Amino acid sequence: MAKQEFKAESKRLLDLMINSIYTNRDIFLRELISNASDAIDKVYYKTLADENKNFNKEDYYIQISVDKANRTITVEDTGIGMNKSDMEDNLGIIAKSGSLQFKKDNEIKDGFDIIGQFGVGFYSAFMVAKKVKVLSKSIDDDKAYLWESEGIDGYEISESEKSSNGTIITIYLKDNTDEEKYDEYLEEYKLRSLVKKYSDFIRYPIKMEVTKSRPKEDDKDNYEDYIEIETLNSMVPIWRKNKNELTEEDYINFYNEKHYGFDKPLKYIHTSADGVIRYTSIMYIPSMLPFNYYSKEFKKGLELYSNGVLIMDKCSELLPDYFGFVVGMVDSEDLSLNISRETLQHDRQLKLIAKRLNEKIKNELTNMLKNKREDYDKFYDTFSRSLKFGIYDNWGMNKDELQDLIMFKSSLDKEKYTTLEEYVSRMKDDQKEIYYATGESVEKIEKMPQTEFLLDKGYEILYFTDEVDEFAIQVLRTYKEKEFKSVSSSDINVDNTEKEKNEEKAKESKSMLDEMKEILKSNISDVVISNRLKSYPVCISAKGSVSVEMEKTLNAMPT
Ligand code: ADP
Ligand code: MG
Repeated sequence: MAKQEFKAESKRLLDLMINSIYTNRDIFLRELISNASDAIDKVYYKTLADENKNFNKEDYYIQISVDKANRTITVEDTGIGMNKSDMEDNLGIIAKSGSLQFKKDNEIKDGFDIIGQFGVGFYSAFMVAKKVKVLSKSIDDDKAYLWESEGIDGYEISESEKSSNGTIITIYLKDNTDEEKYDEYLEEYKLRSLVKKYSDFIRYPIKMEVTKSRPKEDDKDNYEDYIEIETLNSMVPIWRKNKNELTEEDYINFYNEKHYGFDKPLKYIHTSADGVIRYTSIMYIPSMLPFNYYSKEFKKGLELYSNGVLIMDKCSELLPDYFGFVVGMVDSEDLSLNISRETLQHDRQLKLIAKRLNEKIKNELTNMLKNKREDYDKFYDTFSRSLKFGIYDNWGMNKDELQDLIMFKSSLDKEKYTTLEEYVSRMKDDQKEIYYATGESVEKIEKMPQTEFLLDKGYEILYFTDEVDEFAIQVLRTYKEKEFKSVSSSDINVDNTEKEKNEEKAKESKSMLDEMKEILKSNISDVVISNRLKSYPVCISAKGSVSVEMEKTLNAMPT
C-alpha cells in the first residue's frame, strides 16, 4: 500500500493553537508587527544582495490604524509582500514558516534579525479576530491578492488591487461577550502600550495615527483635536548603542521608562558577551528596597528579549535569590524559544547567561566595595540581609561567593561597617578567633558583661544586630581559618594565666555554686567561676556554638 500522508485536521489544530499555545492574547500585535518587520528585513536583505538596488530607509515602516466604527485594526507594512502561492504556503499551512525558509534559502546565519521561525504567530490574530483579511502584493509580482479567513472554516484567496509591494492585515475584532471584551484594542493607549512593551525595539518605525490637542488658531483659549502620525517605538534599543555614546542620564531614563523602579538607581551595569553565547544586558542596583522585597509576593527577575522582542517580563532563572534586588534586561539571539515565544525550550543557554551575569554583579559589587566605599555602604544599608540570607541559604552553597561582600559594625567604630578581611587584618598577634556579640542594638551589646574582658585585651568585637547575622556566621564557621566565636560562648580560646587560680576558687566556693545551681536548675545547666568578668558580678554564657541571643531566636521560631 502506498504510504499515506498525515493530513492535519486544520480546524482543530487552529483551535488548539489559538487556545492553548498562548496564555496572553495581547501578544497578537507583537506577532503581526514581528511579521511586518521580517517582511521589511527581507527587502533589506535582497537589496543588500543586489547592487542595482537601494534601500531607502524612509520607504520602510509599519503602520497601525484603527477604525472604531467598524471595529477593525490594520497593520500595514511596506515589506516584501506575498503572492498567491506564498499565501497558500505560509498562511494556509499551520506551522509553515516562510521566514525560516527564507533564512535557509539565503543561507542567512547570525547577525541577521529575522524573527519568524515557527509559522504559528500569524494565527494568534484569531485570539481577538472573528475575521482576518490579508491584502498583499509581492515585490516580485505585479498582481495583488486578498486572503480572507474567519478562522475555523478555512480561507479564500482572490485577486485584488494594491499599488505598491507590502501587506495590509485587517483584524475584525470579535464581538464583546459578557465574559470577554475586545474593545480595548481599539484604544490608542492600549495599542501604544502594547507596542512599547513588546515591540519597542523593532528596527523600523511603527507609526500610528494619534489624536492630539492644540489651541485653536483664531481662539487661543480653546482647544481643537487634530490627527498626527506618530512613531511609537524607540527602534534602537539603548543596549545596542555604543557604551561611550551613552550618558548616565540615558541609563537613568531607561530605568524610569521601563518602570524598573521609581528611585534613582545606585548603579547600572551594561555588559555584553560575544563568545559561546551572545547577549547584551543592562542591569541596575536600585537605591531603595522594593516594598515587598522580603515577602512571598516579590518576584525577582530580568526582562528577557530575543533579538529585541520581549519574551518574558521577569525571567527569574537569571538571578540568584541573593541578588534578587537587581533589575534590568537581557537580550540574546541565541535562545531556543518555545513555540509561543513565552518561554524557552532549553535552559542551557539561560543557565550560562545567568552564571555570567552573576559573576558580573559580584565583580561590580566588589569593585564598589573597594573603590567607592560610600556607595557600597549605602547599598549595604539597604540590601545586606539579602546577602546574609544568601550565605545561609542553600546549605551554604554560596558562602564563598558572598563572604567578602558582607560587613558588620564593630567595637572599633560602631558607626562604620567593617569587612571580615579588614577585621582579620587588624587582629592582635595573640588573638586566635573572630569575636562577635549578638544583641538587639549596638547600645545593648555595649552593655554586655562578656565584652569587657575581650575589649580589655585589645580585641575587636563584631556587632550582630540583625537576626540573620549569626545564622550566616554559623554557616561560614571560619574566615581565613579563624573561627567565629560568640563573646557569650563558654569556650573562648584566650591565653589564660589565671586558669589555676580559678580552679582553686571553684573548690573553695563549691558549696555556694552548688546551691545556686540547685535554685536555678530549671533554667541553666551550670554555674562556674569566670575570669571574664570585670565590672559585672555575673553573666549568662552559652555552651556550644550557639549564642544566648541565637537560642532566643531559635526558640521563637515556629516548629
Ligand atoms: P513565522 O513568523 O514564525 O514564520 P507566522 O505564522 O507569524 O510564522 O507567519 C507565517 C509566514 O507568513 C511567515 O513566515 C511569512 O512567510 C508569512 N507572512 C506573515 N506575515 C507577513 C507579512 N506581513 N509580509 C510578508 N509575509 C508574511
Ligand atoms: Mg511570525
